[in-house]
Amino acid sequence: MSRRVIANSIRAISLAFCLGAALPPIVQAAPITGQSPIDIVTSDAVHASLLPLQFNYGTDANVTITPIDLGGEDGTIRGAVTPGTGPTDGGKVTVGGVDYVLQQFHFHTPSEHLINGQQFPMELHLVNQAADGTLMVVGVMIEEGAPNAALANFFDNLPGPFLLTGFNIQAILPSYLGSYRYDGSLTTPPFTEGVLWDVLAQPITMSAEQIEAFQSFFEEGDARGVQPLNGRVVLTDVPEPASLALLFVGLTGVVVLRRRR
Ligand SMILES: [Zn+2]
Repeated sequence: MSRRVIANSIRAISLAFCLGAALPPIVQAAPITGQSPIDIVTSDAVHASLLPLQFNYGTDANVTITPIDLGGEDGTIRGAVTPGTGPTDGGKVTVGGVDYVLQQFHFHTPSEHLINGQQFPMELHLVNQAADGTLMVVGVMIEEGAPNAALANFFDNLPGPFLLTGFNIQAILPSYLGSYRYDGSLTTPPFTEGVLWDVLAQPITMSAEQIEAFQSFFEEGDARGVQPLNGRVVLTDVPEPASLALLFVGLTGVVVLRRRR
């Protein structure tokens, strides 16, 4: 508790006494301590056997593309799905037996999360929700490289609005699903905390033209700056940083690393 918070608490209790009220419990507005995004320092991450992310996203989904506050720092271009597991719905990701149903996905430029201080040209957020309302966002870094075939229909027709049919959301994901997991918040107002974050370690690629197609609508960027960890711990099932580069050369690297564990 900071000195200012303690001072405020004492002031609140003193005021309550002055007003003749009973001693109140020290109840304050929820402290803003667990915000997103963060800089993920891989050497500080705690290695754990995380419950795996089991993705069953829609492969034939109807996706409604909508521009939101183009040019604004809190804007984006969003692909909304019908939440559910029907043939044209968005599907779900399951963690530890809990289903988080995909609601929408959207993009930021540059990336909101950093990995060891490195910022990527873009970041994809897949926003999922459990039956109890808990939000779980999967973050995927995007680097410049080969054109992204899975996202071609999305980025060839920006900014929308338009409807994509037969869209394969599952195909957007990278092949390696090791991640960095932590408790954070929404990165746009109202910055609500209690959001579970899983930032995938392996980036996906988009061509320079695809990245430019998005960036042209957000010339000032639409990424929130990194927030302090405030004692939070980032958990990971990604092998030690020295081995990390191997993961990105392809599946062969993953096989070798898994055998060593
Ligand atoms: Zn986002």
